[in-house]
Amino acid sequence: MSKGYFVTHLVCGLTGKEYPARQIHELSEAGRPLLVKYDLEAIKKAVKKEDMIGRAPDMWRLRELLPYEDPANVISLGETMTPLLDCPRLSEQYGASPEAIIVKDEGRLPTGSFKARGLAMAVSMANELGIKRIAMPTNGNAGAALSAYCTRGGMESFVFCPDDTPEMNIRETALQGSDVYRVNGLINECGKIVFDGKEAANWFDFSTLKEPYRIEGKKTMGLELAEQMGWDVPDVIFYPTGGGTGLIGMWKAFQELRDIGWIGDKMPRMVAVQADGCAPIVKAFDEGTQHAELWQDASTHAAGIRVPVAVGDFLILEAVRDSGGFAMAVSEEQIKQARLDCGQVEGVHLCPEGAATLAAYKKALDSGMIKKTDRAVLFNCGSGLKYPLPEAGGTIDKTQPIDYSQFK
Ligand SMILES: *Cc1c(COP(=O)(O)O)cnc(C)c1O
Repeated sequence: MSKGYFVTHLVCGLTGKEYPARQIHELSEAGRPLLVKYDLEAIKKAVKKEDMIGRAPDMWRLRELLPYEDPANVISLGETMTPLLDCPRLSEQYGASPEAIIVKDEGRLPTGSFKARGLAMAVSMANELGIKRIAMPTNGNAGAALSAYCTRGGMESFVFCPDDTPEMNIRETALQGSDVYRVNGLINECGKIVFDGKEAANWFDFSTLKEPYRIEGKKTMGLELAEQMGWDVPDVIFYPTGGGTGLIGMWKAFQELRDIGWIGDKMPRMVAVQADGCAPIVKAFDEGTQHAELWQDASTHAAGIRVPVAVGDFLILEAVRDSGGFAMAVSEEQIKQARLDCGQVEGVHLCPEGAATLAAYKKALDSGMIKKTDRAVLFNCGSGLKYPLPEAGGTIDKTQPIDYSQFK
């Protein structure tokens, strides 16, 4: 069954130079990410909002705005739509209106993080284009998703991560079929190993944004969010920013939805959230530069946002600036406190990167950068269960009389 194929071409995100569709691409000649372009006029005629009603509740719903040609090439593990959780008690505790904080809980996706969206799409496109062997540097979740989707599609994968990547990520990646290696360096140094090995090891480089389709997969967060809000957008989006795929993708989604007339002109303010110990985008935003410098000695327990340099830095900064948003860093303590607050007040378990968005929300509210009535969507990018948790739990000696007055 045909899905309707509306890709016209790809463009370099920096120079605008055009590249043909239906071919294998890496970065542009300028060494920058390629963006997929669609015939939006044709899409407007081919599909209506109402058509969504009968479609499966997954990331492939608005397929006309997705880059694959033949549905038979899609590799899927069940990429369900993820819920929007309102947090009225937490909102009030932080001094905002009850409907202010909304968590989009991406931890429900296959492999327990929103990396599934990007990798489901990119691996499906690799499948469509005949790529069989893929390698990737990762801080954990991307490698786990790559591994799962490659195995699911009968493809080989090789994953390189910093040696202090959460052990859970390394083991799940191996369990799902990939060859996984710990490297005594950061993600950009793992990236160099992948890049240098392209010829000798004959693999395709799946580093963040080095192939064009992960953005299109992450774009579905924006398509889905707009649909869930009744074809509208929130006032502000807090996004934990590493390579920035999701922020760039969502911004693209909102522009495309506006251009096909499914949402109005209102756009959300995009906020890039980073950690004090690794904040290259925040620094570039504050200094007003187009690109971000490599961040030295990057460190944060929120591993997913420990990305010292991003090839799509200018696209992140452009989206943040064009949307009237901002970039903000938070401390390790603020991240831990936000994770506790959300768990203990709302029963919603954020991963550290998700908690960073809540910490930034609080900081932005306290400093007047957002209003207490603003509806803010925070991205909880992965399942909190994939990360170490603070020690907890009391003990009871069954052989002694129990003092029930302790259960206050
Ligand atoms: C990858 C990742 C991020 C960063 O996402 P980008 O879109 O690459 O910026 C944040 N949090 C978690 C848990 C991640 O796995």
